[in-house]
Order: sequence, then structure tokens, then C-alpha cells
Amino acid sequence: MNGAEGLTGSCRACGTTLDRALVREVRHFEETRLLEVTCGGCERQFLAIHVEAVAIDALTVEDVAEAAEQLACARSLSDLFAPGDLDLPDAA
Ligand SMILES: [Zn+2]
Repeated sequence: MNGAEGLTGSCRACGTTLDRALVREVRHFEETRLLEVTCGGCERQFLAIHVEAVAIDALTVEDVAEAAEQLACARSLSDLFAPGDLDLPDAA
């Protein structure tokens, strides 16, 4: 378990600064690391993508996590998009 080096911002759920978060490396490919971040305040977990020498934008990270949750929960495209946003070739 490493410190959250390079992690900026604060937890959107409880406001604890993320430099106190626990970070576990899930995957490592070249200069990109996939991190599992656990908030030091509320223990909420989310994934972060860390590219060497680039600060993590925690809000963007959480947006990605939320999008993934929505995709996992959606049963069909119509749960994700309003009808007008769907532009499928064989839409009636
Ligand atoms: Zn938190």
C-alpha cells in the first residue's frame, strides 16, 4: 500500500483531501497505472488512472467511475440516453 503521491483534490463525498487516501496499484502498463483509491475519510473506493508526471484530476476520475456504474446498471441503451440521442441506423 503506497501513499497517494500525485493525487490531488478532495473526496466529493466527504471532502477529505485525497493526499490522505490509500492507493493500491491494480495494473501497470508503461507509464500508465490503474489505481484503486480508498478515501481516508469515508472509505469510499474508486478507480484512478495515473499517467507518470501528470497530476490526477479526482473529479474526472469519479466521473469515469460513475459512468462505469451507470453502464453496469443499465439494462438497455434507452436507460442511458434520451430517445432523441439515439441515432441507430435501423431505428424506426
Ligand atoms: Zn470520502
